[in-house]
Amino acid sequence: MGIAFKSASVAPKNTKRRTILVAGGAGFLGSHLCDRLLQDGHEVICVDDFSTGRMDNLWHLLRYDTFSFIRHDVIASLDLPVSEIYNLACPASPPHYQADPIHTMKTCVFGSLNLLELATHHQARIFQASTSEIYGDPLVHPQPENYWGNVNSFGPRSCYDEGKRSAETLFRDFHAQHGVDIRIARIFNTYGPRMRPDDGRVVSNFIVQALKGQDITVYGDGSQTRSFCYVADLINGFVRLMADQTAIHTPVNLGNPAEFTVRDLAEQVIAITGSNSKIVHKPLPIDDPRQRRPDITVAKRELGWEPSVALADGLKSTIAYFERQLVRPNSELFE
Ligand code: NAD
Ligand code: UDP
Repeated sequence: MGIAFKSASVAPKNTKRRTILVAGGAGFLGSHLCDRLLQDGHEVICVDDFSTGRMDNLWHLLRYDTFSFIRHDVIASLDLPVSEIYNLACPASPPHYQADPIHTMKTCVFGSLNLLELATHHQARIFQASTSEIYGDPLVHPQPENYWGNVNSFGPRSCYDEGKRSAETLFRDFHAQHGVDIRIARIFNTYGPRMRPDDGRVVSNFIVQALKGQDITVYGDGSQTRSFCYVADLINGFVRLMADQTAIHTPVNLGNPAEFTVRDLAEQVIAITGSNSKIVHKPLPIDDPRQRRPDITVAKRELGWEPSVALADGLKSTIAYFERQLVRPNSELFE
């Protein structure tokens, strides 16, 4: 295990305070989750190897005496006395997870295994950040949880898709064999502040390109669809799924069912930023899913959860975040 850091100062009161490990807590979603859990009065230990995560996402949390972080790669085992674990550790952007596909697969499989063993040892509840990618290039639309998917096991996306599928299987088997209290969210494309400018995913790419007046790179003809969920909505879903009163040990889709083509998204970003950027077309990546939209019937029924932030509103907040990054000295946006 690497360097540990403990902060000092205030913490909100919570009579049901838990010690919660957030693996991948320095990343985009993980840092928002740390915010939420600390605000709810819990003690949070962020474990991250900082491969795609950033200290910039964590500085503001150091004022909590209930927050600490450890630099650690989850492919190696760890032992910490915790009562809840969120496993978000894994690069999520295609260029990042394809940069070192063997490490991505190890992170999904060995990382999940190590955290499941930790959960077994401490009888902790454990959450897995699974993904809509387990449906691959779906032949059923929208995608319900009982759809088995259409995944290529032998392509550039396979390290992530098959890694995440294997992780779900490990979670299922630790529940069946050791009675571990598991929760699995199948997350659909989520965006918001704290995405990296060089993340490579479509929302951050288009916003950064529009703000810099560069060409907007639409892959393929832009007719492929995605359903974009704002980060605050998603984090609410995570917390509901992990609640005491929820006992769903099967995967649950979390995402916004409003579906857009990639071209629609490009046009919305150009309109909201008022940019002069032009749309250009680049080759469609291999195995890029043609369509994607969550069926969230289960989340609505079992968690009383559905997203509330419309794409246009979420884009405005995200654009405002990137605009603030742009005027910072030494901003990564200028690199
Ligand atoms: P991100 O890349 O911003 O965050 C991932 C975090 O995990 C980073 O802080 C990274 O440094 C850390 N990490 C990666 N490998 C690690 C390892 N081996 N050991 C320790 N830490 C490691 O991505 P994100 O969008 O915040 O995604 C978080 C999780 O949610 C991922 O598991 C991802 O697969 C899942 N997910 C995200 C989305 C989305 O749209 N954002 C969709 C589906 C699933
Ligand atoms: N995409 C695009 N231009 C970009 C980045 C992505 O047109 O600069 C497309 C990509 O081909 C895919 C969609 O946007 O069809 C979503 O891509 P992203 O990498 O955000 O997520 P994923 O493919 O994993 O859903």
